[in-house]
Amino acid sequence: MGPEKIRTTPEAIAGEMVTMFNNFDTIDELKRRVYMWLLPIITIALVINSFLNNESLFDTVINTTLIVWFLISLVLVYLNRAIRIGEYVTLFLVSAYHVFSLFDVVYNDLAITGGSLGDFIVWIPLIIMFFFLVLGTKKGLYYSIFILMITLTIGVIYSGQMTPESIDSLTQFHAANIVYILVLFYAQNMFRAFTERDLLKKYAYLDSLTRVANRHQIDVWLEEKLEAAEEEGRAFSIIFFDIDHFKKVNDVFGHKIGDCVLKELSAIVSGNLTDGDVCGRWGGEEFILITNSTGGQAYEKAERFRKMVENHCFKGAGSLTASFGVTEYQSGDNIDSLLNRADEGLYVSKNSGRNKVSVK
Ligand code: GH3
Ligand code: MG
Ligand code: MG
Repeated sequence: MGPEKIRTTPEAIAGEMVTMFNNFDTIDELKRRVYMWLLPIITIALVINSFLNNESLFDTVINTTLIVWFLISLVLVYLNRAIRIGEYVTLFLVSAYHVFSLFDVVYNDLAITGGSLGDFIVWIPLIIMFFFLVLGTKKGLYYSIFILMITLTIGVIYSGQMTPESIDSLTQFHAANIVYILVLFYAQNMFRAFTERDLLKKYAYLDSLTRVANRHQIDVWLEEKLEAAEEEGRAFSIIFFDIDHFKKVNDVFGHKIGDCVLKELSAIVSGNLTDGDVCGRWGGEEFILITNSTGGQAYEKAERFRKMVENHCFKGAGSLTASFGVTEYQSGDNIDSLLNRADEGLYVSKNSGRNKVSVK
């Protein structure tokens, strides 16, 4: 079998990985996703509302402002630009809209003709959810209560001019408002706890510097591989490798450049894995690749990575090499025996001049 095709340049892979991890699982990314569906829903609802209701000029101006602003926000969210500023502008507009609309209904409808608040309650959960999204759990709670106090005050001021039905409707509205605030507050706390637990689980298996699998994950993979090999006869090999004279890199160029080399090497290796192969950082400047390839193919694979490292120019450190030890699963193996053989191979490579692949 000839050498496998390199998917892309190591620099491109390293760049891709950096971008990927900057956006990785952050609350902001999660929020962006929520806005991507929340904003169109609200915009469509506002457009429908504008057509259905015979509104005053004031309402039309407010509705049109909101629709235009939500469309601008949607573009900003899509482009991932100025989201924070956009959030505060939206928060201001939504709060003003909410308070003025409630005032309008209380002052012009409930206090004059009587009746109920109707569809107002429908929007409350969305509005409160938005407060929490922008301000976070604690400030979102305080802000929701602050807005509730304003609408409650409006209700109390005009309650003297209302029919008992209107007072009932307003009371129900505020009771529902309190329930929504509490439910969303606890739902957000719960959601955050779940997300944090999932993130913790994920990071427990990742090396914090290089973002490739850590030793813990490699152990799990090796156990799975050993089990599949024993029970189903599926052969596999491990490729153990270590950067040559890495101490010198730290001594000459500094620890920071040393760290960058480790990240770059991780990106090169993980970006050039073929189906079923996995790799991780065993510790220090030692890495392990677990592959389904065996015999000559496993050797060729190690050779390909050795050449890739040799031909790569590391940022700030230039040319470097690595030594490799390759071993294949043998009946009766456990993690220690497997790793010991791979380590022996690596030792042979180091002792025969480095920048080599040895099979044990
Ligand atoms: P050899 O060719 O025999 O492998 O020589 P070496 O200098 O690479 O070997 P050795 O194992 O003695 O040194 C490994 C060095 O790797 C020592 C340590 O300071 C460095 N190192 C380990 N972890 C890190 C890290 O996370 N960042 C940096 N910058 N250096 C690290
Ligand atoms: Mg080394
Ligand atoms: Mg070492």
